[in-house]
Amino acid sequence: MATPTRVKYLIIGAGIHGLSTAWHLGQHMKAKGQEPRNTDEACDILIIDKDGIASGASGIACGVVRNNYYQPAMRELMAHSVSVWESDPEAFSYNPVGYMQISHEGMHENICEIYEQQKAIGYESSLIEGKDDCTAYMKGIFDDWQAQGITSVLHEKKGGYANNTKAMYGLAEKAEAAGARIMTGTEVTGFQYSGQSVSGVETSKGLIECDELIVGVGPWAKTIWDMMDLPKTVDIKAADGSMHTDVNMWIYWSLQEGTLGVDPNFLKNNEGGMPPVIHVDTDAPLISDEDGSVISEDPWGIYYKPDFHFNGVQGGAMPFPVEQDADKVAVDPYGPASPDFVVGPEFAHMWSSALAHCQKRFEGKGHLFGKEPSGGIGSFTPDSFPVFDRFRENVYFIADSNHGFKMLGVGALVADDIMGKGSALLEPFRFSRFAEGKLHPVSNSPYPWS
Ligand SMILES: Cc1cc2nc3c(=O)[nH]c(=O)nc-3n(C[C@H](O)[C@H](O)[C@H](O)COP(=O)(O)OP(=O)(O)OC[C@H]3O[C@@H](n4cnc5c(N)ncnc54)[C@H](O)[C@@H]3O)c2cc1C
Repeated sequence: MATPTRVKYLIIGAGIHGLSTAWHLGQHMKAKGQEPRNTDEACDILIIDKDGIASGASGIACGVVRNNYYQPAMRELMAHSVSVWESDPEAFSYNPVGYMQISHEGMHENICEIYEQQKAIGYESSLIEGKDDCTAYMKGIFDDWQAQGITSVLHEKKGGYANNTKAMYGLAEKAEAAGARIMTGTEVTGFQYSGQSVSGVETSKGLIECDELIVGVGPWAKTIWDMMDLPKTVDIKAADGSMHTDVNMWIYWSLQEGTLGVDPNFLKNNEGGMPPVIHVDTDAPLISDEDGSVISEDPWGIYYKPDFHFNGVQGGAMPFPVEQDADKVAVDPYGPASPDFVVGPEFAHMWSSALAHCQKRFEGKGHLFGKEPSGGIGSFTPDSFPVFDRFRENVYFIADSNHGFKMLGVGALVADDIMGKGSALLEPFRFSRFAEGKLHPVSNSPYPWS
């Protein structure tokens, strides 16, 4: 198959955003009675990826789909995405088991607000408050529940998790069925311009001219952003009106995740069914399940779920900021220049002890922690929320700030926006919010993504 030399919509990145945008652009064209062309001579929707489908963050994500966001704009966006997951659970390998945010008193007030606002948008959840009621509720799901310091449980009845690579292959099939072509092994190396707009993309397989360019490159965002000469720093107007100048546009966090090599069925609930995704944040001391030492006296958090891809119970803990030079990390976030990628024994010890803190069945199981690399680097914007916006007249940049496996619906909204329908749900995520001070509220969660 030859490389098309001119396309209407050129998409960089075969991850969740590139694939879902292609799927919806194809549907838009079909709805207008235009069958997308897909020949070497004339191609309307082309996705290119330097590696393959799901070779980036979308292929290593834990796959959790949830809505417990403190930011109203994020909640509404997630509710929309959850509806897309629910539209074809089989194709997306989606397990709609629900999600539980189980928290200590320091987060109680935020969680109540989230619950009220979920109710307001019709997103089904239950709120349990008070230590004893929380314990009783959790024991009703897992009779070995023993986590301490918990005073609220927000049980989202929707959401759950998807098997990451299977979901991406399901999405790729939908994109292809909608008329898009996917070309793997094609690396973007530069851009050509006509005035402000991008007229062509230089790739390892030659120049591809395009009318519209869509960028969905996950943790490689900085590389493509810099290649296009977009601003390396931003000025941010804080809530009190003061300006923070020259703030770096991109920062990196190392996401700590791993798998305990037990049978995934090990985590079944009292009824023998698959449990919701569990996320615990507590201020109870974390004691080592191995040697009784104190691991943490500060609040800590973990999440976990059964996993049939890695075969075990998979999850993670709080990430940490990456100290290395951002320019080096951006080039190859999952390569040898990014050693933070591989989680070490410290994480294994913390996470397996935390599992044992939560449920008795995990006691003495730390030695089963998987040796294969897990976790990875996430690329974040200055306020840790997505930027979905147009740049250079014809470039649509989808930078999800590492929120995005769950954002299956963003591609539909981006396609609406590109087709001129606009998107109220994407408006709060424009780049201009930094300078205008239209920032999202900040929660008490220890995670940069809640
Ligand atoms: C360890 C980890 C766990 C996560 N868990 C969750 C979770 O449970 N739930 C959740 O909602 N989110 C999660 N995330 C975040 C989520 O995975 C990402 O936000 C999302 O997958 C990003 O999707 P994307 O399509 O933008 O990018 P990606 O999936 O990274 O795809 C980008 C693609 O661009 C290609 N590319 C890059 N540079 C070039 C180039 N120069 N030329 C051509 N192609 C290029 C890459 O090869 C890659 O395939 C997690 C992230 C990590 C790292």
